[in-house]
Amino acid sequence: MVEISARRILVIDDDPFMLKLMSHLLGHLGFIQVTTCDNGRDALEKMDCQNSLPDLILLDLCMPEMDGIEFLRHLVERSYTGSVILVSGEDERMLQCVEKLVQEHKIPALGYLHKPFNSEDLFALLEKWECPKLNKLWSAKKTYNVDEVRAAIVNGELVNYYQPKVVVATGKVVGVESLVRWYHPQDGMVFPDHFIGVAEKHGLIDDLTRAVIGEAFAQTKTWQDDGLHLRVAINISMDNLASLEFADYVAAAASAADIEPDCIVLEVTESRLMKELSGPLETLTRLRLKHFSLSIDDFGTGHSSFIQVCDIPFNELKVDKRFVHGAASNATLRAIYGTSLSLAQQLGMKTVAEGVEDRADWDLLRSTGCDLAQGYFIAKPMPAGDIPAWITAWEANIENIL
Ligand code: C2E
Ligand code: MG
Ligand code: MG
Repeated sequence: MVEISARRILVIDDDPFMLKLMSHLLGHLGFIQVTTCDNGRDALEKMDCQNSLPDLILLDLCMPEMDGIEFLRHLVERSYTGSVILVSGEDERMLQCVEKLVQEHKIPALGYLHKPFNSEDLFALLEKWECPKLNKLWSAKKTYNVDEVRAAIVNGELVNYYQPKVVVATGKVVGVESLVRWYHPQDGMVFPDHFIGVAEKHGLIDDLTRAVIGEAFAQTKTWQDDGLHLRVAINISMDNLASLEFADYVAAAASAADIEPDCIVLEVTESRLMKELSGPLETLTRLRLKHFSLSIDDFGTGHSSFIQVCDIPFNELKVDKRFVHGAASNATLRAIYGTSLSLAQQLGMKTVAEGVEDRADWDLLRSTGCDLAQGYFIAKPMPAGDIPAWITAWEANIENIL
């Protein structure tokens, strides 16, 4: 078996961030012979010049000049015998079709990465490439210190992903939830659970939330200008609400971005809400008066009393994912899900079920009259740029889902 360090990998992608991210991830896994290229023509030229072909190519399918399929044809002409991993934001069916095409060319396809993918997805494919000794250390690092998180905010390494929310009755896409990711220069994509807590503990959460809001409001406006009217939800930490200027800050940011407050939803997690109510109550009420929507997130995981829920003018209740996925076949989950839904409905709030992962979850929502759905069954969180194409594909397929 060829040593990892001797294997030559070529990454072709027109997105400079993807090139940087992939070469870092591969480097951390122990691959040191990684070449990157931002277009197919240059990649072919390089191969011809060096008169050698790589052992593996990570190939982006959608590139402006030469697309991935055309590139594959040129590979066949050069009698390529290495492997290929396809990378694309296209839907999975499209990727499966191209994977078949690759196999017909007799090029070993390890599989495909659907953008946005995480490091584990890449890792799983590379394991198929008979790489038993991959250096896994990088994925074990789960905590970051305050200086690292501060630097991430200052250096603009935080990026909002967006997960669609659809109307259960019609399948129509009406909104998205912004979920922050950290494009870590060495570790790849880091999820919020690994850094939000650090930011909260060390007084960085205001800066973090402002970065998230700035990006989300600007994105809302961009979509609106393109004719896409989505309600954009943002996760707010309880620590943000403690500051008396927060409501004014959010209103000023919306006005600066030229968007109306009623297209913004602020999500607050229930578990922390109930412990520290008095200060946040004022901020939340003022935000509501300014016509921002308020959503109570992860409902069912805290220890709320119904009176406290009533005290805050929430418009929306999101049933936590652990009471949604699998609830159709589990009486306990089903009872908590049903009770939450009924409470929200009686208080005149919109109901959202998160964590809708499969058809059984989706059918339960449809038979119980839940308003909105969010979860992997519909779509994973994705970069802002992928949202319009995803909506087009989803809407074209809607009758198969209803
Ligand atoms: P959340 O607001 O409850 O967001 C839902 C989480 O569930 C997200 O995880 C999402 O990726 C994940 N998810 C979505 N659909 C499914 C599904 O079908 N099944 C399963 N198992 N999970 C699903 P993520 O992005 O890792 O975020 C975790 C939490 O981090 C969020 O929970 C939110 O509380 C917090 N968070 C995210 N972005 C921000 C932010 O900008 N500011 C603050 N303060 N917190 C944030
Ligand atoms: Mg949320
Ligand atoms: Mg939630």
